[in-house]
Amino acid sequence: MQNVVILQARKWFSRSLSSFSSNPLKVCVVGSGPAGFYTAEKMLKAHQQAQVDIIDRLPTPFGLVRSGVAPDHPETKIVINQFSRVAQHEQCSFLGNVTLGSSISLSELRKLYHVVVLAYGAESDRSLGIPGESLKGIYSAREFVWWYNGHPDGRNLDPDLKNTDAAVILGQGNVALDVARILLRPTAELATTDIANYALAALEESSIRKVYLVGRRGPAQAACTAKELREILGIRNVDISIQEVDLRLTPADEEELKSNRIKRRVHELLSKAAAKPRTAGLNQRELHFVFFRKPDSFQESEDRTGHVSGVHFEKTVLKGDGPGKQIAIGTGEFEDIKCGLVLKSIGYKSVPVDGLPFDHKKGIVPNFRGRVLSDTSGDPTLLEEGLYVCGWLKRGPTGIVATNLHCAEETVLSISEDIEKGMLISSAALPKPGREGLLQLLQDRDVRIVSFSDWEKIDSEEKRLGSSRNKPRQKLSTWDELHKAALE
Ligand SMILES: Cc1cc2nc3c(=O)[nH]c(=O)nc-3n(C[C@H](O)[C@H](O)[C@H](O)COP(=O)(O)OP(=O)(O)OC[C@H]3O[C@@H](n4cnc5c(N)ncnc54)[C@H](O)[C@@H]3O)c2cc1C
Repeated sequence: MQNVVILQARKWFSRSLSSFSSNPLKVCVVGSGPAGFYTAEKMLKAHQQAQVDIIDRLPTPFGLVRSGVAPDHPETKIVINQFSRVAQHEQCSFLGNVTLGSSISLSELRKLYHVVVLAYGAESDRSLGIPGESLKGIYSAREFVWWYNGHPDGRNLDPDLKNTDAAVILGQGNVALDVARILLRPTAELATTDIANYALAALEESSIRKVYLVGRRGPAQAACTAKELREILGIRNVDISIQEVDLRLTPADEEELKSNRIKRRVHELLSKAAAKPRTAGLNQRELHFVFFRKPDSFQESEDRTGHVSGVHFEKTVLKGDGPGKQIAIGTGEFEDIKCGLVLKSIGYKSVPVDGLPFDHKKGIVPNFRGRVLSDTSGDPTLLEEGLYVCGWLKRGPTGIVATNLHCAEETVLSISEDIEKGMLISSAALPKPGREGLLQLLQDRDVRIVSFSDWEKIDSEEKRLGSSRNKPRQKLSTWDELHKAALE
């Protein structure tokens, strides 16, 4: 009996492989961030006959490497060269300006391709759900980052940096530190980066002198890395303020630090900064690390109706034991911080598209090693045939660019195993229209595709504009400008 099963499986396997050799594997990757590009690269290596199309809703590729990574971190963006080589591979295509969910639906895409890999990231925000959250002057870090990075959907944010001297940032992870650094760094140092020109102009006129980085828990739990912390602590002309009492470690903290080298280093850096004498008003700007505070509500300005004027915080203490297990509990004692700008850096959130199983609690697509599962029960046999996931949409919004390389390796390995096991047999038996079908459908819908060579026109124009200002590029940041440069 067992032999019969093995024989059948072998037949399926060879039928599947031979179908794919006469009928090349058609793969569509949705999203051209690190997860999308690493997936495409690994697919092209593992399946030399495969045709891989990468679609993105923007006319520009590279996801958060372009619109998330801070402008003063150019070394992180070098990976764009590697991604460009993937896009230029003869069996790969980049199709920008194509949105899953409006230009094309998931079910249409699945009919066109043998394999669809969703890598469209996390383009929404977690919310606090506290009173006053919709007041003007309160933004998510994602919106603010898009604004200074020239994302076309961030162009109109226009945060008011002039009518206040204080900003509160909620959260103490690396994104929070990026945002604080951009607010505090001398603008002359930003002027030679690829920061959006309107953002540089607004920062040059900014009145913000005090930035508060606020966390619910203590310095032993701060979510940033030592590299980012060292960088912000080293900004010129900024006084650092940390309450020494907050740095005292409980036995539970000691335990936590023992098992985590990065957190130990972060605590050391904060302790050193706290011990440094302040410059008694000589510096123009202040950075306050505020620990053990959770936002309770936002306050409305009396003279500027509808605008935020401060955050009402509840003090907290930590309860619970074990690394990562200590949680912040309100003490019933409150304190306000006055400010005219609030940036919430409490986490990005992915959004589902029609027909996609989604775990709303975790904010990810339920998956087993990158294979999309039909529901959130965790049963690895309930598979959505031919549908895979990678990157922030698969794991949640954590990790650096390189984390997505390992994530893509896992997803591509699952695809290869499924092909070998004959699990894509029903698709393999059918030739799929792939790119041709997609192009036809998009043409019927009047969707103006931006190809990789169109993107190269945007790229050259941005570099040309930047060269006269001693910048690596001056980003085009409206949909019109981008379309004009790409398609005219
Ligand atoms: C502010 C910030 C700063 C960071 N700085 C660093 C850093 O300095 N160093 C580092 O290593 N890592 C950094 N990271 C982390 C890194 O950027 C992420 O790990 C990585 O970009 C996640 O990759 P992804 O491909 O899953 O998502 P993304 O990079 O977000 O890519 C998703 C892509 O999908 C597209 N898309 C979205 N919706 C659709 C749709 N419906 N249809 C078609 N396309 C769609 C988007 O346009 C985007 O191009 C930073 C992250 C942030 C948020």
